[in-house]
Amino acid sequence: MGLRKIFTDKDPALHKVCRPVTKFDRRLHNLLDDMKETLADAAGVGLAAPQVGILRRVVVVDTGEEILELVNPVILETSGEQEGQEGCLSVPGKYGIVKRPMNVKVRAQDRNGNWFEAEGEELIARCFCHELDHLDGILYTEKMERFLTDEELEAQD
Ligand code: ZN
Repeated sequence: MGLRKIFTDKDPALHKVCRPVTKFDRRLHNLLDDMKETLADAAGVGLAAPQVGILRRVVVVDTGEEILELVNPVILETSGEQEGQEGCLSVPGKYGIVKRPMNVKVRAQDRNGNWFEAEGEELIARCFCHELDHLDGILYTEKMERFLTDEELEAQD
């Protein structure tokens, strides 16, 4: 167990397509444990494996009730639309306006390889989309309308 270094958008790891997980072994479990610890330490909502330099399809999401471990996740369904503020632990200090679906249903494997489904709305739906994009090397900055201005950020403090 331990904290992992969070890579920034300057690092090539953030721009690559990640490979599926095929071995549900101790190494995967260590990665998931470290990612959960790193997410909690950074006070984030979600973290994807490429953000800690591992090019595998692994994501953790803090729903507020539990920390979901999503291995090889895919989006099954989306509905509605929301436009709002989004940030990323790999793009520190910045926030952008991004359009996302309001509801998202995903299918993923757990740390032992069992498939399950999870649904999220609002912030969690946004987080599912954001983190799954990471697995394809896509950052929110490529999808946003614009960054928030310093004045807008200050008004929120
Ligand atoms: Zn991110």
